[in-house]
Amino acid sequence: MNGSSFDTARKKHWSVLGPTVATNLSAKGFQAVYAESKKEALDEVLKLIPAGSSVGIPGSVTIREIGAMEALAERGCDVIHHWDPSLTGEERLQRLQDELLADYFLTSSNAVTKDGMLVNIDGNGNRVSGMAWGKNTLIFVIGLNKVTADIDEAISRTRNTATPPNALRLGLETPCTKTGCCVNCSSEERVCKALLILERATGGRKTHVILVGEDLGF
Ligand code: SF4
Repeated sequence: MNGSSFDTARKKHWSVLGPTVATNLSAKGFQAVYAESKKEALDEVLKLIPAGSSVGIPGSVTIREIGAMEALAERGCDVIHHWDPSLTGEERLQRLQDELLADYFLTSSNAVTKDGMLVNIDGNGNRVSGMAWGKNTLIFVIGLNKVTADIDEAISRTRNTATPPNALRLGLETPCTKTGCCVNCSSEERVCKALLILERATGGRKTHVILVGEDLGF
């Protein structure tokens, strides 16, 4: 078997796993679909967000990887995000708040269990805050590399798989940037401060989940 055969087998696995997890998410009140590719995932996002809407993007590699930032801006959406190094501290705080109040809150999740629960870890708390409640529409885009067997594995994934590269991206000095894995640190720069488990879609808003048959995000 060569590398391309492995890739094909992996894609085939995801093409059956994706609909299974989407069905389980739907049974928990999420409006879930499976997209085979980044392109299909972007099409699903654009189906949900009309031109002219405001879209809060609270820090997500996945959303950038599918090209949503550019595509939404091109269709005249007001794309609000705080990953802009030119922002002052006060401007950044304002952006964090504006993201929460946008018409759509577009993000990814750190892990999704195979039976349809979403697990997220956060440092500032802004991202999990917008996931837990809002008057706006919540949209998750999640690569199938983030599927886990259960909640314990999902929490482990948030700390051992998602956070170390994120801390490295941020240029932090947390222990996981030296060891590559979590030591449940007490570092002042610790980025694991708030853990949110969505066992069901929360009330009062629509929550969409677009699962993607690609390796996306951390
Ligand atoms: S608790 Fe500390 S060491 Fe563990 S992943 Fe979070 S920041 Fe890294």
